[in-house]
Amino acid sequence: MDVITLIRKNILALEPYSTARDEFQGGNISVWLDANESPYNNGLNRYPDPHQKVLKEKISGMMGVPAESIFIGGAGSDEAIDITFRIFCEPGVDNAVAITPSYGVYKVAAAINDVELREVQLNKDFSLPVEKLLDAVDKHTKLMWICSPNNPTGNAFPKDDLIRLADGFGGMLVVDEAYVDFSDKGSVISDIFSHNNIIVLRTFSKAWGMAGMRAGMAFAVPEVIEFFDRVKYPYNMSSIVQDELSRRIEEGTGNQIEEIKEWAKIMYEELPQAQCVEKVYPTDANFLLVRVSDANAVYDYLIENGVIVRNRSKMPGCGNTLRITIGTPEENKRILQLIKDYGK
Ligand SMILES: *Cc1c(COP(=O)(O)O)cnc(C)c1O
Repeated sequence: MDVITLIRKNILALEPYSTARDEFQGGNISVWLDANESPYNNGLNRYPDPHQKVLKEKISGMMGVPAESIFIGGAGSDEAIDITFRIFCEPGVDNAVAITPSYGVYKVAAAINDVELREVQLNKDFSLPVEKLLDAVDKHTKLMWICSPNNPTGNAFPKDDLIRLADGFGGMLVVDEAYVDFSDKGSVISDIFSHNNIIVLRTFSKAWGMAGMRAGMAFAVPEVIEFFDRVKYPYNMSSIVQDELSRRIEEGTGNQIEEIKEWAKIMYEELPQAQCVEKVYPTDANFLLVRVSDANAVYDYLIENGVIVRNRSKMPGCGNTLRITIGTPEENKRILQLIKDYGK
C-alpha cells in the first residue's frame, strides 16, 4: 500500500523547522553560541536533543524495533493521537472511524482538528464488529482507531481481527496498545513491517508506572514516522524527561505487572460474590468493568467511604457500569469488602 498518498498535501510539502542543533552536527565544538541559550551551566541551560537519540536507542533495544520506527511524544500518547489526525486528515473533508465505547481522546482530538469521527458500536459482548467497521469507511476515511485492550471494556481483540482490518482498509489503522503489557493476547507491533498502514501507540503511563512523566510512543514504518517528526513541536520532550526515562528503562520496570494481573484475576473471581454486582467483564488490562444494580448509588457509596472509581454508565453498551482500576493489595481488599458490604 502506498501510504504516502494518504498524507495531507500541506504536510507532504512541509519544510520542518530546523533547530540550531539540526543545522550543525558533529565536529569538535566546545563553544556553543548558535542557539541563544544561556551559557551558564545550571544543568538545564541547553536545549534538549530534538530527536531524542539516546532515549530512542533505549526504547529500540527494549522493544526490538529500529529507532527510525519510533516516535516519542512529550505529552503522552495523547500527543501521538493529535499528530496522527494532523498528518492524515484534511479538516472539514476527511473522516475517521473508531469503535465505541472507547478512549475519549480520539473524539476530542478529531473535533479539535475538525474531523468527523464515525463511531461504530462494539458488539454486545464487546467483540469487534469487523464488517461494520469496514462498512463505515468511505473515500475520505483516512484513519481507523482501535484500542486493544480496549478502555473501558478491558478486552483485547484477536490479532486476526486487527489484521483483517489492516488488510481490508485503505487508510491507516491505529492500534492503541496502552494496556497491552497486561494482556496475554499479544501485540501487533511486529506487524508494522508487513503492514505499512498500521500505527501502534504505547505509553509509559500505565504498566510502566510513569503517568507523571508524560511520555508516549508511536510505532510505524520509517516513512510514516518521518512525518510525526516533521509535525511535532521541535523540542517536544524536555531533557529532564529524556534523561530520567532513559535511566528508568535501563533499570527495568520491576514486577508489578504480574502482581496487578494476579489481582485482576482475584477481583474478577471475588466481585460477583457481592450482591450488587451483576456482571464482571473479563479483562486483559489493569482495570475491570463491573455492572452493578445501581451504578450511581454504588459510586456515591464508594466516595463516601473514600474510594473513587470511574462511572462509565453513560457510555454506549455500558449501562450501570463502574470501571475499577486494580490498586495495591490493600486497596483491592478494601474496595472488595466495601462492595460486598454495600446495602447491608
Ligand atoms: C491511559 C491511556 C492512554 C495513555 O495516555 P497518555 O497520554 O500516554 O498518558 C492512551 N490510550 C488509552 C486507551 C488509555 O487508556
